Amino acid sequence: MPLHLHNTATRSKDPFEPLTPGLVKMYCCGPTVYHFAHIGNLRTYVFEDLLRRTLEFSGYEVRHVVNITDVGHLTSDADTGEDKMEKGARREGKSAWEIAEYYTRAFQKDWKALNLLEPTEWPRATNHIGEQIALIEELKAKGYTYSIPGDGIYFDTAKFPRYADFARLDIEGLQAGARVAVTEGKKSPTDFALWKFSTPEVQRQMEWESPWGKGFPGWHIECSAMAMNILGETLDIHCGGADHIRVHHTNEIAQSEAATGKTFARFWLHGGWLLEAPDDGADGGKGGKGGGKMSKSSGEFVTLDVLIQQGYSPMDYRYFCLTAHYRNYLNFSHAGLDSARDSLRNLRKRTDALIGKSVPVRSDKGQEWQSRFLEAVNDDLNFPQALGILNLMLKDADVLDGEKATLVAEWDALLGLGLTVAEKSEIPDLPGDLTPLLAERADARKRKDWARSDALRDQFRARGFVLKDNPDGSVGWEKVSA
Ligand code: AMP
Ligand code: ZN
Repeated sequence: MPLHLHNTATRSKDPFEPLTPGLVKMYCCGPTVYHFAHIGNLRTYVFEDLLRRTLEFSGYEVRHVVNITDVGHLTSDADTGEDKMEKGARREGKSAWEIAEYYTRAFQKDWKALNLLEPTEWPRATNHIGEQIALIEELKAKGYTYSIPGDGIYFDTAKFPRYADFARLDIEGLQAGARVAVTEGKKSPTDFALWKFSTPEVQRQMEWESPWGKGFPGWHIECSAMAMNILGETLDIHCGGADHIRVHHTNEIAQSEAATGKTFARFWLHGGWLLEAPDDGADGGKGGKGGGKMSKSSGEFVTLDVLIQQGYSPMDYRYFCLTAHYRNYLNFSHAGLDSARDSLRNLRKRTDALIGKSVPVRSDKGQEWQSRFLEAVNDDLNFPQALGILNLMLKDADVLDGEKATLVAEWDALLGLGLTVAEKSEIPDLPGDLTPLLAERADARKRKDWARSDALRDQFRARGFVLKDNPDGSVGWEKVSA
């Protein structure tokens, strides 16, 4: 079966072909770098990585752009509230620029740890202010904007009749429900800021001159401006989390298509949410809400570093993501992550034994497994099914080990689990009562309580485990005689 992808624009699984033969232009909304990415954000990037790998496996060159939102994302979708970067700067007593730099690096470290393929470009919104201003000028010249004095330049959604189509919005319902909350001066609750004016009352660290006065761009305009400048006016694929459908992507479509008169993106793919399981202590026991969509604004969320400190590896989390279809919700729980870790360990035991044995896949049985695996992947990235096929293939006594080794290596180019490298599976299991001490030691190190951290290290040593702090922040161990 040729590659089929579920397109949010058509609400159906459509056969995928890029506009330019052999080349896929793909834009993915990147992080807002005012805080660490949580594992919900990372789930979306894992899904996008699986898509990228699938496209490359199908023989396409992929131009993959992931932006860095380092300005303009307000704390509310209704264009009120504070700029998240300025808020992050106040929270930490640093400059907004320092905050952006620090969290961009932290994000890219998580990216590498999860074995996500490096994008072709990582454009930062603050490096593309000129293009954003030019796009707003274009929209103004075509009559799509209006100004609210003392506030900003807004997109007039009533002038774009298809505005509600993408998210199947009920505009009348929205208008009826929003009488109280709408920003003063907005003609419709769906209108959105393209440019916000700096005001004398608020001293901003990030602001620029524009034809309409000093200020800063709205959040949505950056993605349209960067995507179209780097990839061209029509993208093959635009991705993001499902939370972006109603506002952010709807606004991106309106402003891009109003400016160019062309389709902005042919395929829209959206990743389902990672949910916090209630009562799991998913936030490390700090008493977070639990049960809803994991979000940065809740203040309590789980990062990849927290998981590493709890003794999981980034690949355990990647495997956990692979167990659910990308469009479905996925409940995060430690029990679920433990079972992903166990499955990955078992898988590695089998695949490690095959390393170095590859021979070409010639048997009918081997080729049948190959087509079953690719069938699953090409069916809108059905990786949970593909994982099941991998496990069944490994147990099939009719397939030679050499063929198995070749299939594992080929399929791992899609799964990205590092199954052709044996190192991780050599780590011996820790006794259950020692595992919680890893988190305690990480906490002591964070507090620079070296005495406590050394005492904990000694406890591991006394039981025959020598701890090793890896450069990526994770902790490994070796078994020695106690
Ligand atoms: P942000 O940094 O908040 O702009 O989000 C970065 C990416 O993570 C976007 O594509 C969001 O749609 C996505 N995202 C946010 N929360 C979740 C979640 N709980 N589960 C999956 N994806 C999410
Ligand atoms: Zn975006």
